[in-house]
Amino acid sequence: MKEMRQMLSDIEWEVKLTRSMIGKAALSDRVMAAMKQVPRHKFIPKALREYAYQNGPVPIGFGQTISQPYIVALMSDLLDTKPSDVVLEIGTGSGYQAAILSKLVRQVYSIEVVEELATMARTHLHELGYNNVEIRTGDGNLGWPEHAPYDGIIVTAAAPHIPQSLIDQLHTGARLVIPLGLPYSAQELMVVEKKPDGKIETQDVLSVAFVPLVEGRNTSSSHQPDRHNPM
Ligand code: SAH
Repeated sequence: MKEMRQMLSDIEWEVKLTRSMIGKAALSDRVMAAMKQVPRHKFIPKALREYAYQNGPVPIGFGQTISQPYIVALMSDLLDTKPSDVVLEIGTGSGYQAAILSKLVRQVYSIEVVEELATMARTHLHELGYNNVEIRTGDGNLGWPEHAPYDGIIVTAAAPHIPQSLIDQLHTGARLVIPLGLPYSAQELMVVEKKPDGKIETQDVLSVAFVPLVEGRNTSSSHQPDRHNPM
């Protein structure tokens, strides 16, 4: 498919362009193969499908977006997975990142705070036969302790700080890939590694722009923070 080839070459081009920041001139073959296998248009609203293979974010409803293909590929690469891994994603959104991960690891768990998005993502993943992804609705700040510890955790919404629950739910030596920063201000994509002494080592990879990771107290009635109605 011509559009898919174009998307893959756009990712390769942007990786080269940002190599001084991300510290590599190419992503792993495994990640690029996964990007090639997953039909991104299946995760995008029908009316916007002409944008499915462009290297940009696309709105998916509920004020959310499916991330740019380059960012999905880069974050998957930074997670540094093995086929036997069990990983956790926070912010299922369309389910596209989860689909890419499903090609890279044994089992994917993913948490989404907007119930309608979780349902839609589940349907799309099921239709495509990606059966190693389990999605639940809830507040990702708390992680998913029942399946912990994880071989990797990826957060696809910007957090103001690193949630301690996510560090607690990582294996020693495993990585958390997370955009850190406040909404509508500078955010940095970070790789956080859990060291044997329980301490963490952080590496700042790239400036990014993500939708916010909402705080738990705001998630019961709405997925948007309500600044006029503090607890
Ligand atoms: N990974 C997605 C893109 C995610 S956009 C994809 O591949 O399409 C970020 C998502 O994080 C949104 O769907 C948003 O609703 C969700 N989100 C925001 N705060 C959250 C929280 N506290 N817990 C779980 N999901 C959250």
